[in-house]
Amino acid sequence: MKIGIDIGGSHIAVAVTDKNLIVEKVEYVYEKDFKKEIRKNIEKYLKEKIAIMLEKYEIKSIGISLAGYIHENTLIISPNLPDLNGINFSEVLSEFSVPVFVNVDSLCAAKAEKEYGVLKGYQKGIFLVIGTGIGGVLFDKDYISVQEYGHMVLVKNGNLCRCGKKGCFETYGSMKAFKDSVEENLGISNHSGEVIRAYIRENKDDMKVKQVISNYVDDFCFGLSNIIDISMPEVIGFGGSFSYYEDILLQKIEEKLKETTLFIDKKFMPKLLIGNFHNDAGMIGATLFN
Ligand SMILES: [Zn+2]
Repeated sequence: MKIGIDIGGSHIAVAVTDKNLIVEKVEYVYEKDFKKEIRKNIEKYLKEKIAIMLEKYEIKSIGISLAGYIHENTLIISPNLPDLNGINFSEVLSEFSVPVFVNVDSLCAAKAEKEYGVLKGYQKGIFLVIGTGIGGVLFDKDYISVQEYGHMVLVKNGNLCRCGKKGCFETYGSMKAFKDSVEENLGISNHSGEVIRAYIRENKDDMKVKQVISNYVDDFCFGLSNIIDISMPEVIGFGGSFSYYEDILLQKIEEKLKETTLFIDKKFMPKLLIGNFHNDAGMIGATLFN
């Protein structure tokens, strides 16, 4: 068995995994006090939970999934949690004498879906983790690599992106962009994704709701069609919080892509699939690198 850890921008999860199965999981959504000294508190949280799990299970290794630029188990730059910049997880967890492997969240999620999930059996594809931003991974047979699809520019002098550029795909196609639009146009603010989805399902014939979805789908497909044209994948998998919107968004995206002439060649229309592991994909995938 292994320990899989997902350190996100708003929550942390630690699990004991057995290949693609989660044997036991604990998670925590950061509260205000926790955030004040987030680096110290994350280290403390990890050490506490890992110590408990090591007593109960025989653990071969620890895998960590997080966003950012990572080099040799060190998080060099974190887009979500700048206080963690420079943290070396091998050193932080050295007292446990268990090998540690740190990898980018999108790569971890794609690995989980490729080995055990919805992308299994496909030769060439893309996995997009759509949440606060858009993380991308391209795979072709045994080759797999992180791609910055989220920062391809769709609009000259468009929305300001957290990367510093303007007009990036993720400022139009991320779940954050979708939620911002829901807040602005439907007046639903400070609510969880669950509440937003319930509202949309209950009011699916409302003109304003239709408009919000249609605008998002248009923008999303504009970016997606570029990715398809460049990489010509046979399949595209979707993960992150987007994966909970399957009934609301997926069919509309498929229809929009079919009606548009943005493709170089229509026969390259890839299959669009929602990931099996939803938000657990990163944690499971983090354990698959050794
Ligand atoms: Zn950007």
